[in-house]
Amino acid sequence: MHALLAGWFEQALAFVFPDRCAGCGSIGALFCAACRAAARPVVEELTPPPGLDAVAVAWRYEGSVRRAVHALKYQRRRRVARALVEALVANISERPCGDVLIPVPLHPERLAQRGFNQSAELARHLAQCWSLPLLAEGLIRQRDTGHQARLGRRERQTNVAGAFAWCALAPPPDRIILVDDVLTTGATLGACAAALRAAGSRRVAALTLARAVLAGDHS
Ligand SMILES: [Zn+2]
Repeated sequence: MHALLAGWFEQALAFVFPDRCAGCGSIGALFCAACRAAARPVVEELTPPPGLDAVAVAWRYEGSVRRAVHALKYQRRRRVARALVEALVANISERPCGDVLIPVPLHPERLAQRGFNQSAELARHLAQCWSLPLLAEGLIRQRDTGHQARLGRRERQTNVAGAFAWCALAPPPDRIILVDDVLTTGATLGACAAALRAAGSRRVAALTLARAVLAGDHS
């Protein structure tokens, strides 16, 4: 009976507050079929950023993908993570190899502001889709690195160097898939990989929803 009631309540809620697409605002889905179809995949082979063995990216960071990531991060629409992951899993040709998913951590102050870590939300749904373990604690951001949006390639690297650390008693697993929302220069992922390798990991790959191109940088 409880399950029935819960189901009915959910339907009633969906009727009063229908889902809006985070990419285009249309009613019906959190990331609609049209936005999925319009999202341009990254087809070129990407050179893994320094410190990473492999990198997989689903889409270009533009249009509806960009708006959906903004909705997740800045409008705090947490449920958008699941819709994006479902689209990503259907879209990505090959998942990176690794035994465990680790989200790029937020600094505790940023986490308190936002209420959740968008990368951890993405990793949580990916773990369900791929039946992989999720390790959301252990890797920490020990320094608030601020916003990187206005920094160039070099400055980003300097800004995040040493910002992460492994702080669990047991060493991290051997082969890891790091999860983040957007790849720009890969400086953040590289700094995470450095912390994991320093603690004993041997292979670190990364997966992100999208790839942004730094202004004036098309490499
Ligand atoms: Zn849409």
